[in-house]
Amino acid sequence: MAQHSNQLLEAISVPKNAKHARAVPDAATGQTFAYVEESTVADLDNAIERAKAAQKDWAALSHAQRSAILRRAADEVEEHLEELARIIAQEQGKPINGFGARFEAGGCAVWIRSAAETVIEPEVVFEAGDSKSEIHYVPLGVVGAISPWNWPALIAIWQIAPALRMGNTVVAKPSEYTPLSVLAVIELMNRHLPEDVLIGISGGREIGAALAAHKDVAKVMFTGSTNTGREIVKASANNLARLTLELGGNDPGIVLPGADVKALAPAIFGGAFSNTGQTCAALKRLYVHESVYDDLVAELKTLADAAVVGPGLDEKSEVGPLTTKQQFDIVRTLVKDAKKNGGKIVAGGNPLPKLGPHFFEPTIVTDVTDGVALVDVEQFGPVLPVIRYRDVDLVIDQANASLQALGASVWGDRERALQVAEKIESGTVWINQHGSLNPVVPFGGVKGSGYGLEFGVQGLKAVAAPKVITV
Ligand code: NAD
Repeated sequence: MAQHSNQLLEAISVPKNAKHARAVPDAATGQTFAYVEESTVADLDNAIERAKAAQKDWAALSHAQRSAILRRAADEVEEHLEELARIIAQEQGKPINGFGARFEAGGCAVWIRSAAETVIEPEVVFEAGDSKSEIHYVPLGVVGAISPWNWPALIAIWQIAPALRMGNTVVAKPSEYTPLSVLAVIELMNRHLPEDVLIGISGGREIGAALAAHKDVAKVMFTGSTNTGREIVKASANNLARLTLELGGNDPGIVLPGADVKALAPAIFGGAFSNTGQTCAALKRLYVHESVYDDLVAELKTLADAAVVGPGLDEKSEVGPLTTKQQFDIVRTLVKDAKKNGGKIVAGGNPLPKLGPHFFEPTIVTDVTDGVALVDVEQFGPVLPVIRYRDVDLVIDQANASLQALGASVWGDRERALQVAEKIESGTVWINQHGSLNPVVPFGGVKGSGYGLEFGVQGLKAVAAPKVITV
């Protein structure tokens, strides 16, 4: 692979011998490729104080003025798309092409622009004679944005862009595993934002916990695991911060009798394996009617065997490494356990140590069902359990049995699929697709996958205080 100089990476990284330098590994090799400055709780307190001081002037700008600044920030991201994408591909490990790192970097610009352009007006909720009540959506103050490592830059932008648009200032804490991707996109935005309106703070769980609990944080946008979500809820008992919680998912897909499995297989495969399966709303357990089971398994096996596995920075890669050793270990353990419990590996099933320490073959597991950990818990990796079913009503109960309820999909005849979708407990149900997102269509989970909505008008309202004005 050719070496590229990357001025964006140079702008956000620190020398190895800097005081609080933390090594950032290349996901593909496990070797350090840059250092980032680790912040302390004192740095965090200082950042929140500065963000609080900057908020009044930022809120005093009109929507049009803030939107104009955000549009310039989106242009800046687009101008540096390749540098940003290369940081993401190296740090997080996703392939540079397909729904990978260039897609993620481009998505940052798309979502910033969408936050800038979405119209939000006061809502008249009562009018009679000369009396009138309206809801106005006003800024909250300082928003804490805490993000995970799987779509690091894009998820941070989902939190940051609407919050800024609505007149809040933001202190953003990336995952300790992917600080560079987030600090890079913040650096690009800060070339256009006034000082201290957006501050990136790198650091581990303790910095996240301190941010969530801070007395001057009015709202926490959190995306991460369900367990950490519970900690954030506890912290909010003290500061009464409002919360948006985008937590883990264990998305089911249901393939109906009569589905054209040959035509649908590539989309099913993509829904499960893009970003190496490390997507909150990836297809994580596939229930297939017995009449089409064998045919679909054969199609998925062909796709898994043919997928090109390699480093994110390799233009040919279709499936990358797991981002971290911890995630690699989880995936390997779940596959071993599935085998022990009768699961049959029809494709893949093994690590790929020749490629690097965290690579795992795209894997299809059959002959498993609910009760096996690979089906019951979020695998977050390139492994799909395929479960045979006979009765559509019963399989809906199986889909709904999980605590997680972020996304789900139904595959087959559209009308029948829509009837099934009605009965599924989930934030989103896709028909004949899985995982597509749109910046103006709200996204969020229910049950153990959290609460609150992101994107579109609902997303803007979520980072504002509703204020009623009655005349
Ligand atoms: P995680 O919960 O371990 O960490 C997420 C972030 O929270 C990190 O920045 C971490 O430092 C911080 N954190 C940890 N402990 C904290 C605490 N006590 N208080 C405040 N912050 C704390 O999650 P992860 O492993 O980075 O991400 C993977 C998980 O995120 C998966 O479960 C995945 O499904 C979920 N996810 C959900 C969505 C969604 O939109 N619903 C999107 C992406 C990922």
